[in-house]
Amino acid sequence: MSVKSTALIVEDEQEIGELVRFHLQREGFECAVTRSGRRALEMARQAPPKLMILDLMLPDLDGLEVCKRMKEHDDTRAVPIVMLSARGSENDIVSGIELGADDYVTKPFSPRVLMARIHNALRRTTAPVREQATESTIVRCSGKLVIDKERHQVSVNGKQVALTITEFEMLNMLARKPGFVRTRDQIIAAVHGPLTVLSQRTIDVHITAIRRKIGDLGEAIETVRGVGYRFADGEAVTAE
Ligand code: CA
Repeated sequence: MSVKSTALIVEDEQEIGELVRFHLQREGFECAVTRSGRRALEMARQAPPKLMILDLMLPDLDGLEVCKRMKEHDDTRAVPIVMLSARGSENDIVSGIELGADDYVTKPFSPRVLMARIHNALRRTTAPVREQATESTIVRCSGKLVIDKERHQVSVNGKQVALTITEFEMLNMLARKPGFVRTRDQIIAAVHGPLTVLSQRTIDVHITAIRRKIGDLGEAIETVRGVGYRFADGEAVTAE
């Protein structure tokens, strides 16, 4: 980090707040900690931070509401949010991601994992190439997977792979945003069309089929337990 980046830590447990602050400061962040969701929103609107670490259980506004309001407001929409949540609160994690949070870490967490998630979230949200990837016709991941949206073709290590339309759309959705967790409902919303009717359960069946068909790269589709799926954070680049 060259210039001091600011991180806003929203956490009501003082020890955890200080722990997160310690590790972020060590990496050059200037940190503000608040235990109030309302205060966090005020602070973020006055001076949008580079990053928000957001606990879900807060004494006033809960973290999901804070996340929602951050994403509703023009000034704060682009701030990457990494949620902190108690273990076993998958429903909250799913809601948070659907509201626009970038990632989450479950407590108790190792600082190494937290920092890795933070760096990923920052890299994803600041890399313009990755944003453009949603619009391009071809996505390459680690030089192995090529998705040609226009031709509806997928190849792995140069060999063409036959996917159904639904499988194609699902793989395309996940691979275009490597590292981003997608919930089953988000996958359904993105893939659902006149020809495809998907339920939560059929998602898992399709994923299994895709993994099998893309061979070695099948491992790149990671199951995020209780939440959904994510394509491993490889080197997705666009090409003409
Ligand atoms: Ca809390």
